[in-house]
Amino acid sequence: MANSDLVHCSHCARDVEYHYDPVNHGKHFLLSVCSLGLWLPIWLFAALSPSKLCNQCGNPLWSTEVAEMPRQPRRPS
Ligand SMILES: [Zn+2]
Repeated sequence: MANSDLVHCSHCARDVEYHYDPVNHGKHFLLSVCSLGLWLPIWLFAALSPSKLCNQCGNPLWSTEVAEMPRQPRRPS
């Protein structure tokens, strides 16, 4: 699959095509089992927010594109 969107890469200093870093669910499953479930939130975070990688240099693009960090939603008590 090809992405037609272009994202600016600060490393390449130009707009580049990107691909998503696939989540290694097997590794996350093993870590979750080894940590008795403590790894589950990290697994969830990785699965919900795949990082964009520059097709040219392979560097992640999310850190340069997203200016503000998403806030943690408050849980209703
Ligand atoms: Zn790049």
